[in-house]
Amino acid sequence: MDRRDFLRTAALTALPALPASAAFSGATFSGATLSGAPDWKGLRRRLSGTLVLPADAGYGAARRLFNPAFDGIRPGGVAYCASAADVAACLSFVRANRLPVTARSGGHSYAGWSTGTGLVIDVSRMSTVAYADGRATVGAGAKLVDVYDKLGRHGVSIPAGTCPTVGVSGLALGGGLGVVSRKYGLTCDTLESVRIVTADGRVLTCDATHHPDLYWACRGGGGGNFGVAVSFTFRTHRTRGVTVFFLHWPWARAGAAVKAWQSWAPTAPDELWSTLHLSNDGGLDVQIGGAYLGDRAALDRLLAPLVAKIGRPSSRYVSATSYQHAMMVMAGCSSLSVAQCHQAGQTAAGRLGRDLFAAKSHMAYAKLSADGVKALVAGVARAGRHTVQLDALGGAVSRVRADATAFPHRAALYSVQYYSKGTGRTWLRGVHADMRPHFGDHAYVNYIDPDLTGWRGAYYGANAPRLAAVKAAYDPGRLFSLPQGV
Ligand SMILES: Cc1cc2nc3c(=O)[nH]c(=O)nc-3n(C[C@H](O)[C@H](O)[C@H](O)COP(=O)(O)OP(=O)(O)OC[C@H]3O[C@@H](n4cnc5c(N)ncnc54)[C@H](O)[C@@H]3O)c2cc1C
Repeated sequence: MDRRDFLRTAALTALPALPASAAFSGATFSGATLSGAPDWKGLRRRLSGTLVLPADAGYGAARRLFNPAFDGIRPGGVAYCASAADVAACLSFVRANRLPVTARSGGHSYAGWSTGTGLVIDVSRMSTVAYADGRATVGAGAKLVDVYDKLGRHGVSIPAGTCPTVGVSGLALGGGLGVVSRKYGLTCDTLESVRIVTADGRVLTCDATHHPDLYWACRGGGGGNFGVAVSFTFRTHRTRGVTVFFLHWPWARAGAAVKAWQSWAPTAPDELWSTLHLSNDGGLDVQIGGAYLGDRAALDRLLAPLVAKIGRPSSRYVSATSYQHAMMVMAGCSSLSVAQCHQAGQTAAGRLGRDLFAAKSHMAYAKLSADGVKALVAGVARAGRHTVQLDALGGAVSRVRADATAFPHRAALYSVQYYSKGTGRTWLRGVHADMRPHFGDHAYVNYIDPDLTGWRGAYYGANAPRLAAVKAAYDPGRLFSLPQGV
């Protein structure tokens, strides 16, 4: 048993992809069409990395994101940049040719907003992970599995997400929730500095004293808004033993599980993180899983009051393991090597599939009432193939001021994700609307939602005006343009 079994993941069937016209095409620049086609070959000569154009053999793979829903989008070119200078050359090219531009790291944007019809700047070649004196310097294209693995060899880590193939850029720039966040904070909370290439081609190192506003915005303001990050320096923590657990209950206990979990999880000791899944995927199921930075006996004592309230689980798996292996378990890679725990087709040994899904989110600032619990359970029970996932917050996340970084949801008790398999959004919109009176309008920018109304307030709360000011200062011409761009 590991998180891949536990989570929603499933073998992908080839469902129809969205046509390019249905998806984001990047910035559209008003004004005259330039005479002459862009000199793509000239750009290729300027790069130390690789430019993949539509006629090239690797183009089919180069334009793919994690979610096949966006396979219909055809970029003008995909530049695998090897350096900040490559990124600056790409930005100069798109400025000169008035082309849309999109940054891409791990390619996991829920809305597909790391591809477009112009130039995709892919940072995955910049993926070194170096460690010295308690600090990790991580290339903007590193995948989380490699960050955990390489830092783990030094006996250290950073708090980051569960999905092994998510890129560090999107994760850190939007915040970064993970299984040790209650103990060590969000990924962005450990960010000490970021190197970023801005729209005008400058390479800036931003920290608490240099470009502090941009540094602030890069900690929760969301990827794709302020420039192209090329590397991040994080403060690390020492790794330690972890006990992982997965418990299941029959569906009849769903309401009791939500009620008990939401009182227990956000106020548990910082060392304990947990997630509650209600799923309807070939059968209704209730699952609580998590990771505890401590031993099994102590975890059993912490789980006892929860289990007493919900009732006897139908299955219970608890295992004490190393920190690195725990991250592989939570990634769904417990039976794979690190080399295999990559997306098939992106690395020679990669074995992981892509995932065709659609999602929406809430951030829960208060516990659900009895009516709210009922509505959530009824929503999951509706026909379809879907999951609702509640991830505990609180702990170290809540001890940072809401305006100290751009990530505003410090007082949230847990995050809520609604996932459905395939590209349909009918169930998602219905359950989201049903839960809105109970959860309110807060959402997480890293679960970016193309049909969310009021997204600015939902993602950023009171931090939105300051983010707009940073945008105006560093990208006044809006070279970086998202449908939900700050
Ligand atoms: C299966 C799955 C599991 C996930 N698990 C978690 C989790 O545990 N915790 C969590 O917090 N989130 C999680 N997420 C959400 C994830 O954090 C976001 O989707 C994140 O934006 C993905 O980053 P990426 O680099 O992989 O994606 P990309 O699609 O490459 O990028 C996302 C956004 O950032 C921009 N961007 C990418 N690279 C750069 C760069 N170098 N500079 C500036 N902008 C850039 C892109 O243009 C895009 O707008 C998960 C997502 C998926 C699909």
